[in-house]
Amino acid sequence: MSVIIAKQLVKTYVAGDIKVEAIRGVDFSIEPASFVSFIGPSGSGKSTLLNMIGCLDPPTSGELQVVGQDITNLSRQDAARFRGEHIGFVFQDFNLIPVLTVFENVEYPLLMVQNWPTDKRKKRVQEMLDAVGMADQGRKYPSQISGGQKQRVAVARALVTNAKLVLADEPTANLDRKTANMVIDLMKLMRNEYKTTFVFSTHDPRIVDNVEITFELEDGILQRQKTAAGGHHG
Ligand code: ADP
Ligand code: MG
Repeated sequence: MSVIIAKQLVKTYVAGDIKVEAIRGVDFSIEPASFVSFIGPSGSGKSTLLNMIGCLDPPTSGELQVVGQDITNLSRQDAARFRGEHIGFVFQDFNLIPVLTVFENVEYPLLMVQNWPTDKRKKRVQEMLDAVGMADQGRKYPSQISGGQKQRVAVARALVTNAKLVLADEPTANLDRKTANMVIDLMKLMRNEYKTTFVFSTHDPRIVDNVEITFELEDGILQRQKTAAGGHHG
């Protein structure tokens, strides 16, 4: 069963008299444990699409199924609950909470959605910090670690609830080449380990070289879908 199914999906932003047709009828599906990316020029609708998949913004029309659930018409509250249970996010600018430590940032999603006993929760957080190579950095604050380390923490935070889908909007845009490669490798490792689906938006050729399928967006329309030579690998 596909993790994401979109049918004739449309998103039109309306502000006063101005209408922006950001996504203009796209169809696609994404399979479990895949590593895929939406690519396209700035303004082509990548973030809009990821935001709809992540239940951050509802579609204007069409159908959108995520992890087997129709999310087209969720209430704000149901959308929030759905996000908390099923989706992890990784952002371009990391979005860590500055007043929380690294450990507390990773712990945060567990406090929001799941009623875990404290010791089990702490153990899970430490396990995720280990998995992303940040085991001994838990007491630091985001301002005390590098960009690459912040993105590692963000990956741990995205996966701590066992989310089966991670949405990463230009996750390497603020990283240098070497760090970006490390973060991409880490995400791929996590995909292999936890069978999480990773959906990116990016301009970054390093991500494009690593994904199995690229969906090319132009002006809100899906132009092409390319499968990497050799198909599913990694
Ligand atoms: P990308 O992520 O590919 O750069 P976006 O999805 O951010 O593209 O934007 C697609 C189009 O929708 C652009 O024309 C952008 O200006 C417009 N847009 C995005 N968000 C909003 C919004 N909240 N209100 C109005 N227009 C928006
Ligand atoms: Mg964007």
